[in-house]
Amino acid sequence: MLNQLTFSELTARIVQREISARAVLQACLDRLTQVDGQIHAFISHDAADARAQADRLDAEVARGVGLDRPLLGMVIGLKDVFAVQDQPLHCGSKILGNFISPYDATVVTKLKAAGAVVFGRLNMDEFAMGSSTETSAFGLTRNPWDLTRIPGGSSGGSAAAVAAGEVIAALGSDTGGSIRQPAAFCGCVGLKPTYGRVSRYGLVAFASSLDQVGPFTRNVQDAATLLKVISGPDPRDATSVDQPVPDYLQALDGDLQGLRIGLPREFQIPGLDAEVKSAVDQAIQQLQSLGARVEEISLPHADYAAATYYIIAPAEASANLARFDGIRYGMRAEGNDPLELYCNTRGQGFGAEVKRRIILGTYVLSSGYYDAYYLRAQKVRTLIRQDFLQAFERVDAIVTPTTPTAAFKIGEKSSDPLQMYLSDAFTISCNLAGICGISVPCGFTRSPRLPIGLQLLGKPFGEATLLKIAHAYEQSTSWHKVRPPLAAGGGADGTGDGRSC
Ligand code: GLN
Repeated sequence: MLNQLTFSELTARIVQREISARAVLQACLDRLTQVDGQIHAFISHDAADARAQADRLDAEVARGVGLDRPLLGMVIGLKDVFAVQDQPLHCGSKILGNFISPYDATVVTKLKAAGAVVFGRLNMDEFAMGSSTETSAFGLTRNPWDLTRIPGGSSGGSAAAVAAGEVIAALGSDTGGSIRQPAAFCGCVGLKPTYGRVSRYGLVAFASSLDQVGPFTRNVQDAATLLKVISGPDPRDATSVDQPVPDYLQALDGDLQGLRIGLPREFQIPGLDAEVKSAVDQAIQQLQSLGARVEEISLPHADYAAATYYIIAPAEASANLARFDGIRYGMRAEGNDPLELYCNTRGQGFGAEVKRRIILGTYVLSSGYYDAYYLRAQKVRTLIRQDFLQAFERVDAIVTPTTPTAAFKIGEKSSDPLQMYLSDAFTISCNLAGICGISVPCGFTRSPRLPIGLQLLGKPFGEATLLKIAHAYEQSTSWHKVRPPLAAGGGADGTGDGRSC
């Protein structure tokens, strides 16, 4: 089953010409045909374009060209938030209509240069606003481990496609947890890099001071490889940072002796599921047995993270989404005058959650409320960042559960936005602080059997340390090797009404 293998296993065999890039792609396409009717990870895919990419790579391999490319022949799925030249871009929304991207996002250019086959438009919450992929205008995605449950969000399609073996790896975006949370719910590895580590050029903006691009993979080594490919400064993104990109693979030496890991006392929240807690406690013991020193730390402002995030993110979103007006991009609903045209287009084009965020964001930025909400939230954000920077003077990384519970039922939280927002309780502060974080599989709930994620948070540009710890942990356990029991065909059709209300 080529679609279930990892980068190193596959690229070596492609270079030896034991297998072709075309065969790897075909394995993914076959899997997609077998299971995507059930899980609906893809909004759309262009098999002919992917075959052409794979054939080009095979021709190059035959000529001995570019054999050292790190992603040679790897089928990488993309969340529907990245611009890929000549491919549709919807951002999980109706408002972009039949928009086709005229250019490649920087990460897409980098993937192609590294030999990847860039494939598919993976489902997501509309404009990345959500924690369940239920707000997509294209219907919901189901969790490959249990088709009655959500895959997490907003990058639920990316996580589900990787977990189900429809792609070898995928990219997502993480504004408040949208890579780590679905990775935890679907049992894969998800990494949110430090703000500025990866270019956002060609990533449709949700909240520009929080968004980062990152990988979904089936193991930590592949995450290290993919991160190295996509990282680095970009003249087209002024917030990308000119910091050297380390060789992340070299950091995976398995040695945790002397490393200090902090356990924040504030993360023992009331809604923390007992099975999640016990899996994380065992993972912490495992890290200790591997040589890490675990000590309690305090992040005194952690409690304010969700409230702060749900002021800053909607504020930025309300500004970023102003451009979708029926004039510049995508769909247009006519009106008698320009104002009516804007209102009709935005009224019909955006879903309920996006409208809620725009209203909230406009409110907190309006004169009279700006100081009370937005400015205050920015001050709290600084305190949250300072908490982390102080903690990182004592410890090399911080450990928490990725989510308070395992994947929840479809529809369980969609009528209660506050409950939905709280499912990001452990992931949000990382984005506010601009630091990096990773989620790795650390166990399963008993019945039903659902994956649990362990989150590690690291210093700004401390991805190498995170990957090192995550890799050592992963290699001492077998959680990452378990695949969802997803049979071909049958089951749900994945076309349920994905609107949250
Ligand atoms: N669930 C969070 C939200 O709805 C985070 C989303 C994200 O990271 N894109 O805002």
